[in-house]
Amino acid sequence: MKKLFLPFIGILLSVTFVKAQPGNTSITRWQYDRNGAVSITWDDGSINQFKVALPILNKLKLKSTFFIITGQIPGSQYHGKFIGRPIKDIIKETATIATNKDNFYERASAAGYLGLIGPLDYHYKAGSLIDAGKTEEAYKVIDECYSKVRKGEFKPGIQHNDEYKDAHGTTWADIKKYAAEGHEFASHMITHPRLAALDEVNIMYEAEKSRLDVLHNLGTRYTFSAEGPFGTENARAVSYLSKVYPALRNRMPEPWLKEISRSDKETPGNTTKEYVQYQRGATTKTPLPMMKAWVDTTLNRKDT
Ligand SMILES: [Zn+2]
Repeated sequence: MKKLFLPFIGILLSVTFVKAQPGNTSITRWQYDRNGAVSITWDDGSINQFKVALPILNKLKLKSTFFIITGQIPGSQYHGKFIGRPIKDIIKETATIATNKDNFYERASAAGYLGLIGPLDYHYKAGSLIDAGKTEEAYKVIDECYSKVRKGEFKPGIQHNDEYKDAHGTTWADIKKYAAEGHEFASHMITHPRLAALDEVNIMYEAEKSRLDVLHNLGTRYTFSAEGPFGTENARAVSYLSKVYPALRNRMPEPWLKEISRSDKETPGNTTKEYVQYQRGATTKTPLPMMKAWVDTTLNRKDT
């Protein structure tokens, strides 16, 4: 899949009447009493987003949010690591105890840090299954992974995921320059893991330490939001991220907000909630009229 043009368009629509206040003050749902807001966001900080897309955005005077993988940026203080018991103890235990709800997250967290080429793929596969609610299948994937580890079927080495590799080539100096041009930068974690497959301590490491590198290099203004990789909607992972970041591109469960995620086919209709968050993901194959229609959905809401 081409990663270059993968903006995610998050749209918040207001759905109730503007409340006039006495005097010259009025409370509006949106700044300048507009119908809604459209944000263009980019995942992973792939180098082509800055070399190709960013100049086009600047020409059009459009601002974007870029969710960056901080661990691969030269000068970042924090890099991927496993926090937990000695790896050899975990591997040894897999020989006698099948993967279950009590040991899954530890094993899936450690999988990417065994010093072997291959187990990281199992981390992703298991995380994808957890995101899909297929827990038992995820356990089997981890069992298969560690069975191969014990049999010595993986070669030694350090493995990184594709998103992490694609993001190489950008420096903090570059990012500061783009930020000065008006673009927002925000965390996409340290290594782009499947958060739904990590245990608490490893989720918090990815979330908090990535935030610290953003803070040290860009300042507090850029620590407001984050995106959990793969747009995870896993409630457990999102709840941990929410402890670190006030806003998430993934989900922001609020009683006043109707969420229509990027994997949801629904378009905004009638709702009793005050706001609608409407996300859509574009790829190179997405027709321009369709993308325009997403924006028109915001512009044309008459019940604001
Ligand atoms: Zn991503």
